Amino acid sequence: ESENKLQLVHRRVRAFPDFPKTGVLFRDICPILKDPAALTAVIDLFEEHVRKKHEQVDLIIGLDARGFLFGPLLAQRLGVGFVLIRKKGKLPGATVSVAYDLEYGKAEVEVQEDAVAEGQKVLLIDDLLATGGTMSAAVELVKKQQAQVLDCLVLVELKELNGRDKLKPHGVFSLLQY
Ligand code: AMP
Repeated sequence: ESENKLQLVHRRVRAFPDFPKTGVLFRDICPILKDPAALTAVIDLFEEHVRKKHEQVDLIIGLDARGFLFGPLLAQRLGVGFVLIRKKGKLPGATVSVAYDLEYGKAEVEVQEDAVAEGQKVLLIDDLLATGGTMSAAVELVKKQQAQVLDCLVLVELKELNGRDKLKPHGVFSLLQY
């Protein structure tokens, strides 16, 4: 059953060489969103994992921007709320931020100060884990709010970039590995 669902997902991920720049093989998850069966399979697989592994989840937190496509669907399934971690400058009101290094330069992620409460058990979600830089910054942000990161969820994990190691001791659950 789970195998069939994984196949549905797998055949809806496309690869584009040299996008957005030379040497990058871009994994495009857009076809999943065009296929209701594949999208349902994604959420089913995440839900199964979460229900099996975590007794209590308080919040799903999605990463800008493709984490926003899957996070709210999973949150609805689990009957919990959804929160956005955004790139700097997009969120109104009081925010907390964490800066991190990119290949060239720096980036910053932000969350609304009142979005996450102390002690809440949260799951982070994004479409893809590459170096883990973005996800690590998100983990730091959640920890700044004194919430507890249970797991990081991604559709696609690029194994050779070792993002999983960077996130230790936090766990990574991925549907597809390349
Ligand atoms: P990183 O911080 O290196 O783990 O990069 C993760 C972020 O960049 C995710 O939000 C992805 O959406 C995006 N990303 C990085 N590499 C790729 C890739 N090869 N294909 C698609 N998206 C990517």
